[in-house]
Amino acid sequence: MKKIHNKKKDIPIQIATFVAKFPAMIDTNANVLLIYTGGTIGMVENPETGALEPFNFSHLRSNMPEIKRLNFNVDTQLFDPPIDSSDVSLEKWRQMVHVIEEHYDRYDGFVILHGTDTMAYTASALSFMLENLTKPVILTGSQLPIGKLRTDGKENLITALEIAADKDADGYPVVPELCIYMQNLLMRGNRTTKVNADNFSAFNSPNYPCLAETGLDIRYNHRFILPPDYNLPVCFNYKMDRNMVIMKLFPGISREAVRAHLTVPGLRGVVLEAYGTGNSPINPWFMDMMHEAVARGIVVVNVTQCLYGSVEMHRYENGQRLEKIGVISGYDITTEAALAKLMILFGQGKTPAEVNRLMPVALRGELTVRGLANR
Ligand code: ASP
Repeated sequence: MKKIHNKKKDIPIQIATFVAKFPAMIDTNANVLLIYTGGTIGMVENPETGALEPFNFSHLRSNMPEIKRLNFNVDTQLFDPPIDSSDVSLEKWRQMVHVIEEHYDRYDGFVILHGTDTMAYTASALSFMLENLTKPVILTGSQLPIGKLRTDGKENLITALEIAADKDADGYPVVPELCIYMQNLLMRGNRTTKVNADNFSAFNSPNYPCLAETGLDIRYNHRFILPPDYNLPVCFNYKMDRNMVIMKLFPGISREAVRAHLTVPGLRGVVLEAYGTGNSPINPWFMDMMHEAVARGIVVVNVTQCLYGSVEMHRYENGQRLEKIGVISGYDITTEAALAKLMILFGQGKTPAEVNRLMPVALRGELTVRGLANR
């Protein structure tokens, strides 16, 4: 399989050249690269405004002497400046992938420290940008800064590092997937969504079992982990198309609002957040506008507004009408993953017909087609 696009040279990397080496107590062979992008975990309180602001990695390091006690090697790479994840962008995703590509051969696993606000978007995007992944890439962060006594950051970080370093008896990584680890749960990244702004358990994987749960031990759910094909070379996909919208339906949505979404200049794809099993109003103006958009080659993917469950457009007349005009089922995919998938498929130069064909197919275990063991 060939590399789709490697924009390595055109990427303005803002990563500090500083590399900190944590001495390992026991010399095992595992090497993990810790990539610090920002987020609450490393933030400090601005004494004047009381707001949390990104701070530099030395703050995180001085609050985490525990890392020195790990029995494998951890090196670090920093985003300079670190960001609040609300500022994440396609460019930042490329920078993350670029760091992984540059260091892919030298490390057994990667941990990305990232703010929780957009972590599910980043996890989804990276899962598609990294193709034929054979090593763990674990995103984690925290709800409380690492310097706070009750921080959730320490456990999240230490366990994420351990998971990234874990190998099976044959020396293969236990979880060669793009994951989020938060509050005792390891989840496939493109299955996650942020569900809580306050609690330490900020993420949920509503439609797919967790890949591991941690307590006294790390208990892996091996049968839910995707086995990679080690014969295929890993590919780093950098090209993404940003010409997408998310249109969430609500009772009373106006013609103007729907039109505004569907007539965005350059629009290629729409994530339609519909009701229940994928239903929408069927009044003529709505159906005409949707039909006209599909006829113009815009790919419309139907995802459910519900946290749990799947789109099944055949169930109700309202869903069937959408199906008839060419709206595609996203089954149980999250909004975040549907968006990222549209961005990557169009970014790879695929035609609307090809994107329509691939959206309901699981490329990275991001969806399950009802009735099929499609994971
Ligand atoms: N605003 C922060 C961020 O996403 C919140 C967090 O880290 O949890 O960067």
